[in-house]
Amino acid sequence: MSLDRWSPFLDIPAFPGNRYAVIADRLAALMNTRNDLVMVQAEAVVALEAAATSIMRPGVKAINIVTSPYGQWFGEWMRRAGGEVIDVTAMAARAIGIDAVAAAMAAHPDASVLSLVHAESASGICNPLADIMAMARAHGLITIVDAVASVGGHDLDVDTLGIDIAVIGPQKALAGPAGLSALSISPAAWERIEKPQGPVNSILSLSDLKLWIDNGRGPLAGTTVNLEWHALDAALDRVEAEGMDAVIARHTLAAKATRAGLAALGAPAWAAADTASNLVTAVEVPDGLSPETLITSVAHLGQPLATGVGPGAEKLVRLTHTGQLARFDVVLGAVSAYGMALIMAGHKVDLGAASSAIADCYAESRG
Ligand SMILES: *Cc1c(COP(=O)(O)O)cnc(C)c1O
Repeated sequence: MSLDRWSPFLDIPAFPGNRYAVIADRLAALMNTRNDLVMVQAEAVVALEAAATSIMRPGVKAINIVTSPYGQWFGEWMRRAGGEVIDVTAMAARAIGIDAVAAAMAAHPDASVLSLVHAESASGICNPLADIMAMARAHGLITIVDAVASVGGHDLDVDTLGIDIAVIGPQKALAGPAGLSALSISPAAWERIEKPQGPVNSILSLSDLKLWIDNGRGPLAGTTVNLEWHALDAALDRVEAEGMDAVIARHTLAAKATRAGLAALGAPAWAAADTASNLVTAVEVPDGLSPETLITSVAHLGQPLATGVGPGAEKLVRLTHTGQLARFDVVLGAVSAYGMALIMAGHKVDLGAASSAIADCYAESRG
């Protein structure tokens, strides 16, 4: 039987071989870095696992900040690569405190690597990246930052902060495809990766990725995921047309308005403003109610409400305002839907006050 059907997803034209370097330069610009930028034809978790695998060796000690399941996995990958890993775990679903990081650095002066997630979409927190990076620089640590969720939602100044390896993906705040990811890699990190030689001939090998740079940044080796490359090209066009600063400001405003709306409902956001992510806003549900029940009760409204992910996030509902969802109508819809769920569960909340608070934020932002 033949299928007589046209699909835009089939028979994709090859992505031009001379455009990969252009994509890499555009990604580096979004990260504010002049470091080498290498790209992975896989979802960002592969890039993260590659970083952990390529930097660690027997005899190397790392301080790994854990604020979600991503940080836990990162520690496991580093251990598997043969290094010693000191996990510094934040209070459940909270941002890490800089005192805990300082204490770990003091207790482990022989550590040479520090890893952390910048902003978490799992629980809606943002770690104090600038403060932590300042301490890491003072201790001469090689730093690895998971900025998959934060890029586009928060400032990411890789070179100013001195981040040795920053990992990003286009699928969160940049509203692009999920099948590609990228890493910026400093000269100090390359040295670590190559001497002594890290893994080669492996999907987890950063040395293998560097061959693309060493060979003049032309076409990628092997078969390319053309659909994904065209999608990333289009996503970057859209980000650049809006302007990266405007994209970040849009996420900042969505987070601020969501917090204001929740506060007006009498259901303040879980994270304090100075440790809150701009990607999602989490709220702790009232005693006796479950996030699942509340979300299910308003599921028919189609608003972006989800349960928290990871330890301590079981009592949280997340209101998502990431990527194309960082806008007024989505914020209004999500906060109203959460308020309606509370009302249906027998709580008294003021939906009007919440929408006024959100409207005020968006009115103010027009200056
Ligand atoms: C989304 C995300 C990733 C990528 O993982 P997926 O869940 O597979 O999309 C990695 N790190 C962080 C902090 C993320 O938010």
